[in-house]
Amino acid sequence: MHLKKEYKLSTLDERCINNSVSCLRRIPNTAYISKLTNEPTGVYCVGLTVDEVLKLSIEELYGLAMEPQEVPVRVKSKRALRDMVDFACDMFEVQHTVSNSVVYLYDKLKEASSYSSIGSTEERYIKAPRKCIIELIENNIATNSSNHDENNVIALELLDAGKTDTEISFVFASIYDEPAGDYGWYNDDPSIPGKQIVNMRAKGLHRYNKRRLRDMGICPEYGCPCERS
Ligand SMILES: [Zn+2]
Repeated sequence: MHLKKEYKLSTLDERCINNSVSCLRRIPNTAYISKLTNEPTGVYCVGLTVDEVLKLSIEELYGLAMEPQEVPVRVKSKRALRDMVDFACDMFEVQHTVSNSVVYLYDKLKEASSYSSIGSTEERYIKAPRKCIIELIENNIATNSSNHDENNVIALELLDAGKTDTEISFVFASIYDEPAGDYGWYNDDPSIPGKQIVNMRAKGLHRYNKRRLRDMGICPEYGCPCERS
């Protein structure tokens, strides 16, 4: 840290490898010293761009390291950060518009991520649907109505219950009992699942936890079997 601050060595690695000073070799364009012989190996510690790392083979990268290279200028992409935040908001179903600041959305994401867990679809293991959700489905079928939040709750519950996309779409077709329209919960052709459900599966979203169901007024405060699940 002293070196970094005093000599403005901004690329100096702050962390030492195995309590040694190996990291000091990471000053750009210095010769790499063999740990065995203490001799330069002919390879330099060169700076690489992300593009180079992605596109070049290991042999080509070694080729670049044979002589000092211009140190790439590091550009922080605000655009990339924004895209990443927007992507995460979609995953956690955080409402976002271009006028929301990254700081604001980051806070919302922290809040949302403590409610729902995400994982890959491979990790999805089957959980029996909870009683309060079954009642919600039955009630919505009986009344031919369901709002967007309830749809999310139902779709995710059934995804975690091991239902297929077309089976889940069929539930929504049963609830609404009208032409599918553009809503994406089902299609008029029952063999094609609604895109909302396909998207949820692709995002690896999981069912709502009981605290959130309670906040939404879907799960009763006491006496629901989901208490134990
Ligand atoms: Zn419940």
